[in-house]
Amino acid sequence: MRIMVQKFGGTSLATAEAREHVVRHIRRELETGYRLVVVVSAMGRKGDPYATDTLLEWVAENGGDLPVREKDLLLICGEIISATTLCGLLERESISSVVLTGAQAGFRTDEQFGNARILDVVPARVLDELSSKDVVIVTGFQGQSLNGDFTTLGRGGSDTSATALGAALHAEIVDIYTDVNGILTADPRIVEDAKPLSYVSYAEICNMAHQGAKVIHPRAVEIAMQSSVPVRVRSTFSDNVGTLVANPEGFKDVQTGIVDRFVTGIAYVSNVTQITVEAGEQGPHHLQLDVFKAMAENSISVDFINVTPAGAVYTVFDSDSIKAVAVLEELGFKPKVLNGCAKVSVIGGGINGVPGIMAKIVEALTEHHIQILQSADSNTTIWVLVHKEDMVQALRALHTKFELHR
Ligand code: ASP
Ligand code: MG
Repeated sequence: MRIMVQKFGGTSLATAEAREHVVRHIRRELETGYRLVVVVSAMGRKGDPYATDTLLEWVAENGGDLPVREKDLLLICGEIISATTLCGLLERESISSVVLTGAQAGFRTDEQFGNARILDVVPARVLDELSSKDVVIVTGFQGQSLNGDFTTLGRGGSDTSATALGAALHAEIVDIYTDVNGILTADPRIVEDAKPLSYVSYAEICNMAHQGAKVIHPRAVEIAMQSSVPVRVRSTFSDNVGTLVANPEGFKDVQTGIVDRFVTGIAYVSNVTQITVEAGEQGPHHLQLDVFKAMAENSISVDFINVTPAGAVYTVFDSDSIKAVAVLEELGFKPKVLNGCAKVSVIGGGINGVPGIMAKIVEALTEHHIQILQSADSNTTIWVLVHKEDMVQALRALHTKFELHR
């Protein structure tokens, strides 16, 4: 049985016209001979009638603060409405389908309401239904804890539902449908000549997703990578196949001619604050332990960490900076704080071990008088921290320097 998982996001289901496209993609793949499992998100965005944020807002305004367990019960409704709407549309087109909730589709999770981890996916029911129905529709973003409570997988979690199902079903491919034509070399709102990529490796897209490119949830990629299930990120509104995400061996079939590229894309995270804490009399070990323990205990997530005998430099989101500083001052530290920074990432599987990439980055930024506040690297990414005012120019300069528009 050739199984394909398709996932349609909120914007792909938001209007009658978009839903016609969804039906078109379903029909086309059925005609190709696939058995289809279709994962859906709630329809639309904040303000649209049954979008996730709208449901949250409604209860907040008309009810009140919900306990986390009940909040998850509310949240799963958005996907149920979307899935049943699609079922009705398919019925009208004489395509038989069945709707399964996350629980019925076999998603077993821990009990961390609002951000549950998948323990395993046991898709027996999905397989069973596939033998008699054209399409099995699964509500994304949800599961069930071992004692039977409904849980959700964290915002944006239906991408994760799709790749986890793809892995559990040994699907041939997982198509993530969205409102853009795949993955681009940079954010097209900032870099006008950003170019669509025909393929990226799991590692590259993981870095891009973690570094602010919002096309696919990083957890979804990590799950796909573990099971090597190929993923395509593509647009609901066209027939273009978008970007293939796979292991490099998976690209052999793809005629791209750019296998040798060093840099794949440029991404960014804005609104971060750089915090510098210098070692005082206590000595560096004490400082590092105290600082990072205090951040963890206060649920402040830290990033871009440089630890040296002289102290520690790291970033937090601007929204956490007041809290972070208060915590540090309470401990007797005198942190230096730089709000309004942006973390710019140069990502590419080919960076590893290639001399001169950092030199080129520095050159591109220096030519535009952009100050580098901090930098770090891994084998697929080099990060630089810049002032937020410099971010747009930095992204454009790097995109040009690495000739990503070609
Ligand atoms: N509807 C959920 C959310 O808005 C899940 C998703 O869209 O992936 O976060
Ligand atoms: Mg999404």
